[in-house]
Amino acid sequence: MRYYSTRNKNGRAVDFAHAALAGLAPDGGLFVPETAPEYPQAVKTSLPVMSFHDIAFETIKPFVQGEIPGAALEDMLYEAFNFDAPLAAVGDRYVLELFHGPTAAFKDFGARFMARAFSYFRRNEDKPLRILVATSGDTGGAVADGFFGVDGISVTVLYPKGRVSPLQERQIAGLGGNISAFAVEGSFDDCQRLVKAAFADEGLKKRVVLSSANSINIARLVPQAVYYATGAARAMAETGKQVVFCVPSGNFGNLTAGMYAREMGAPIRHFIAATNINKTVPDYLENGVYEPRASLPTISNAMDVGAPSNFERMTVHWSLKRLCETLTGVFISDETTRETIKSVHNRYGRFLDPHTAVGWAALDALKSTGKITPDAPFGTLATAHPAKFAEIVEPLTGAIPVPPSLQKVMERNVAAETIPADVSALIERL
Ligand SMILES: *Cc1c(COP(=O)(O)O)cnc(C)c1O
Repeated sequence: MRYYSTRNKNGRAVDFAHAALAGLAPDGGLFVPETAPEYPQAVKTSLPVMSFHDIAFETIKPFVQGEIPGAALEDMLYEAFNFDAPLAAVGDRYVLELFHGPTAAFKDFGARFMARAFSYFRRNEDKPLRILVATSGDTGGAVADGFFGVDGISVTVLYPKGRVSPLQERQIAGLGGNISAFAVEGSFDDCQRLVKAAFADEGLKKRVVLSSANSINIARLVPQAVYYATGAARAMAETGKQVVFCVPSGNFGNLTAGMYAREMGAPIRHFIAATNINKTVPDYLENGVYEPRASLPTISNAMDVGAPSNFERMTVHWSLKRLCETLTGVFISDETTRETIKSVHNRYGRFLDPHTAVGWAALDALKSTGKITPDAPFGTLATAHPAKFAEIVEPLTGAIPVPPSLQKVMERNVAAETIPADVSALIERL
């Protein structure tokens, strides 16, 4: 598969390894696959009876064909996806649980695959690689964990000071070793801006081999298509019908991966793009005007993105008309998010994290609009474990049982340097 820049379809196409290690295209665009791969017909029809790992293999294979041999890819997938993505039934809907990885959020899927892919692609290099990543909370922890202890690779994470949860901060800045962290005095958008500027800095390029690990990186995006395919396949096995998936969204990497899975032939009828009050994309879907803006802080802070980086990818692949056919945008206030956490706990005894609650509430908002009907299965992605956001959820529900992996993280010390939201402050420290 060849990959080209979102900003120049006729520019030089590169292979997966190149696109992954470069992160951003030289012109500042994002790498996108040249063609949307499709599952062979035999795979399409047997998805409902295939195992998670077989689906993962068939989903990722076309994206890395000719670069990662089948046996190596299989090993990589077994190591990266050493946890499941169960499709739970809760009340009238599904909840696709993506929080069973080591940092308890869906970003583990992308980060763990990416770390192993990078290590494979760099197997014959001796110059160390520096991963630079901006996070609004969950990316940093997943990337730090995914790369922790990987030889020849170090990771620097930038996060908005005071805007991530105590647990997230320990996942980002509590590992040490080859992982370092900067607490930036600014917003997530500032962090992203600093990372973009560092990548564009000619002086830095000469000293350091840099790569990114944000959801802009194609190596994180592609593995995320896997759980859409497995979730939809399981829904199909149970109901015989295509599912509607609601995706709580910020940078829209997750949803873009879902769109890839759907193009490949995963049995997905429609997507709901759910955001908090940072509703740039729902506004675009409604009135056709894209207006990026500064992000506003909310209780679903991993979705506090006013200028979603993957928007470029979506619009390069799909026209507005096509997007509107496939996607329905909904935004949910913090107040509704809180009410949802409370009422779902009361009714079903289930704890939702604030991001998943946005997804749940978006489905409620769309019931009876025709996008969601009782005759077709629907569900939301559960993007994080509720215990990651205990300070928001517990006042509404009472104590959440904490998984042992998260209990251990809380015992770590935070070791991050605070820096101003200023490009030179970052560059001089790299
Ligand atoms: C990152 C994240 C999101 C948003 O995902 P995008 O790919 O940026 O749209 C939603 N929920 C949680 C818990 C996250 O960590």
